Amino acid sequence: MGSLVDPYNRSITYMRVSITDRCNLRCVYCMPEEGLNWTPSDELLSYDELIRIISVAAKRGLKKVRITGGEPLVRKGVVGFVERLNQIEGLDELALTTNAVFLKDMASDLYKAGLKRINISLDSLDPKTFSEVVRRDIFPMVWEGIEEAERVGFEPIKINVVLQQGVNDHEVMDFVDLTRRKPYHIRFIEYMPCANWDTWVKTYKPFQTVVDEVEKKIGKMEPVSGSNENNSGPAENFRIPGAPGVVGFIHAVSHDFCDTCNRVRLSADGDIRPCLFSEIAVNFREAIRNGCSDEEIDGLLDQVLYVKPLYHELDVMPKEKKLTNMISIGG
Ligand code: SAM
Ligand code: SF4
Repeated sequence: MGSLVDPYNRSITYMRVSITDRCNLRCVYCMPEEGLNWTPSDELLSYDELIRIISVAAKRGLKKVRITGGEPLVRKGVVGFVERLNQIEGLDELALTTNAVFLKDMASDLYKAGLKRINISLDSLDPKTFSEVVRRDIFPMVWEGIEEAERVGFEPIKINVVLQQGVNDHEVMDFVDLTRRKPYHIRFIEYMPCANWDTWVKTYKPFQTVVDEVEKKIGKMEPVSGSNENNSGPAENFRIPGAPGVVGFIHAVSHDFCDTCNRVRLSADGDIRPCLFSEIAVNFREAIRNGCSDEEIDGLLDQVLYVKPLYHELDVMPKEKKLTNMISIGG
């Protein structure tokens, strides 16, 4: 079996692995207030099943795994899962995306288990605005989680900020200023049209002019090269001269970055989706539960490569199709 290269010659080296669709928050851009019909636990891939798929993919060149969700830290046993992932030969980068609510208690164990890279979602530095976005009054726990992650040694700590017009876009400078005091990598992310179309139409903020607006206020920032290793859309990264942190802008919507896409997404219930904005999926759970061989898993991985679309077609897609619930596939 050769490496994971799709018909358009893109090497797939990165898998985002959702370990649960459940979440303890209800971010307005991600899921409805009432939650979703959670997947019953026997329909979730077990940790053994996840490790098996990832191990087969790693033999074919998978290099990076990001654990995500839903909220990955709500699933029991995640620390042991990290430990096992850390032992898979060939995987050289292990990361996790979390809302940080449970991080204060778990950061140290996760770090000891081998996790070194963490992305934390934090859409506002103001507790009131934060609670409006996540629909929970929980800012202090999240902030303590971030500080604990820094204390135990996570490096870099990346902070994802989904910018929404009229909601948190007045805080751009507060986040930029945070990079003068903290070694955090602030990543402003364009709001993608998932979960709630009306909210997206009202609050989508394209990034074309944001960097100029920041530089008008604080002067030129220094470009930082090579830090879009996630390939999560064309990112522009900057540093305020002398500051410990980095500011990045990820154009997730306004630029098409599909030609360099290196990723696939494994959902908690065992589908691998080759594109965030496509409903195409290859199911692995049934095959595994029917006792398939590793060669058959290889064959399913080949199917994923074969059906990976050339580009996301967001610009020509009818709106109802764009409303993928990001929570079910892990962002
Ligand atoms: N619960 C974890 C968290 O929030 O960090 C992990 C899962 S969450 C789906 C992964 C990332 O997707 C988060 O950083 C979140 O902000 C981002 N996200 C969710 N919905 C989004 C949207 N509509 N547009 C852009 N980013 C989104
Ligand atoms: Fe939960 Fe993360 Fe979605 Fe917010 S973005 S609702 S924290 S899964």
